[in-house]
Amino acid sequence: MDCKEARLMAHGYADGELDVLTTARIESHVRTCLACQKRLCELAELRAAIKTAAPYFEAPAGLQKRIQTGLRKSDKKRWPVSLIAWRWPIIGAAIGSAALFSMSLALVMNTPSADDLIAREVISSHVRSLMADHLTDVRSTDRHTVKPWFIGLLDFSPPVNDLTSRGFVLVGGRLDYLDNRQTAALVYQYRKHIINLFIWPAPQEQTSSIKVHRWQGYQAYAWTQAGMHFWAVSEVNENDLSLFARLLRDRSSGQPASRGNTLP
Ligand SMILES: [Zn+2]
Repeated sequence: MDCKEARLMAHGYADGELDVLTTARIESHVRTCLACQKRLCELAELRAAIKTAAPYFEAPAGLQKRIQTGLRKSDKKRWPVSLIAWRWPIIGAAIGSAALFSMSLALVMNTPSADDLIAREVISSHVRSLMADHLTDVRSTDRHTVKPWFIGLLDFSPPVNDLTSRGFVLVGGRLDYLDNRQTAALVYQYRKHIINLFIWPAPQEQTSSIKVHRWQGYQAYAWTQAGMHFWAVSEVNENDLSLFARLLRDRSSGQPASRGNTLP
């Protein structure tokens, strides 16, 4: 190995990225070359300084996609090492690495949970049902019409409650698709607002507390009960949707959902 090649490999060596053979060759070269030895020492010092003193930046929104796209492109077409090595100011590259590291960290920290992803699906479906004028497949205020409508269409029977006395009027129901499966969507009206109540089987029977999810100005109230997931979503005010969720949870405890297509 000569000095030119040693210079090209120096960063890889300092980062521990070289294969065993190249590592042995560069080490053999610096044993007899003071100039390259000095360079490697400087790199080692720089790395140590970055570790303790480099600034960290918060990644701006939307950067995840751009980085991923960029990485995919650069994977396909790797730049020749000679183009990048020694031409960029070392400190710039170092700060870049530190920034990339903190961005990766921020991406990991901001990764939405499974529940957050379902909340987005549920809210999107609610918005779609209002925009596409496809709110109901079966239109009726009578739960004895809405509930049997799902027979043969779903592998479970959603509990359908009448909350008219509390101002939540059943409008109808429709089939929907959420969380990778067919779901029941019950539609209620409260004053001028539509509430979508999505129901599908849950793996566990236990009753959970009601959780609130917010996304893009919408709110969704979610709970699990009697082996079913319930997600209520609307743009009614928070108190009203919370009341709706609590009323349903109380009613449903007296009307367990069944997995078969049986009527109550
Ligand atoms: Zn040398």
